[in-house]
Amino acid sequence: LLLGLAVLFAGVAILISYMMSKKAMEPISAAFNRQKEFVGDASHELRTPLSVMLSSIDAMEMTDGAIEDPFAGKLLKNMKLEVKRMTGLVSDLLVLARADSGTVNRSYESIDLYVEARNVIESLMPHAEANHIALHFHAQDDMNVTGDRERIKQLLYILLDNAVKYSPDGGHVALTLSKEEREWRISVKDEGIGIHPDEQARIFDRFYRSDKSRTRALGGHGLGLSIAKWIVDIHKGTISVESELNKGSIFTVNIPLDQAVSKARK
Ligand code: ADP
Repeated sequence: LLLGLAVLFAGVAILISYMMSKKAMEPISAAFNRQKEFVGDASHELRTPLSVMLSSIDAMEMTDGAIEDPFAGKLLKNMKLEVKRMTGLVSDLLVLARADSGTVNRSYESIDLYVEARNVIESLMPHAEANHIALHFHAQDDMNVTGDRERIKQLLYILLDNAVKYSPDGGHVALTLSKEEREWRISVKDEGIGIHPDEQARIFDRFYRSDKSRTRALGGHGLGLSIAKWIVDIHKGTISVESELNKGSIFTVNIPLDQAVSKARK
């Protein structure tokens, strides 16, 4: 009887503590969801004033005589840079807030990765040329794959933009696309500043930036790779990095060819 009672008490105690922990958990998850919603709403609301500011600055720059003082012109240029930077941050936050809410519309279609990559490279050319960085591109003949076109373009853009951003003047960046029996692959190689082994796992975390003082001047905000990781996740793929400090980095993305993408949950 004693043993039975002990088992009963233990059972009730476990049940009560389980219920209490559930009760305690609920408000936390609700608060967490509210916070995610808040980030999404705030990002959305911030977009309009930022684009108004940007077009006002553009208009001022284009209006003859509006800015005659060179110092004021310089301030305006700084303002424009910061508004652009903030616009990038807000749109990245919005992407992640939508990803968190799980309500993102995704359209999977057949895409010619070669063509998309060419376009991304072209859009990055001015940035690369300004820093005397040579962009190399290798691809297999048939690079038709299934995926979310806009997001795959964004993934390519993030990886290539980082490779250029973290390379010294005169560096080389190479994008290689390949397709195997079961998966397709994106590889982005640079000869840049590299990433310390202790930091390699953390660079995919939101807002993580290695050696902040060094990278801050380059204008990023630490969300690119978390968006890249999310894009790879929704395509059921993997992303990894091999890197050596002051030698360079290689980012590799592998995505299965036969994924049931239209049923992808997240
Ligand atoms: P950021 O906007 O700072 O570039 P990311 O999320 O894209 O944000 O990258 C996170 C951090 O990872 C960067 O701040 C940088 O320290 C490091 N990193 C990313 N790509 C590279 C690269 N190709 N070479 C060296 N460091 C990199």
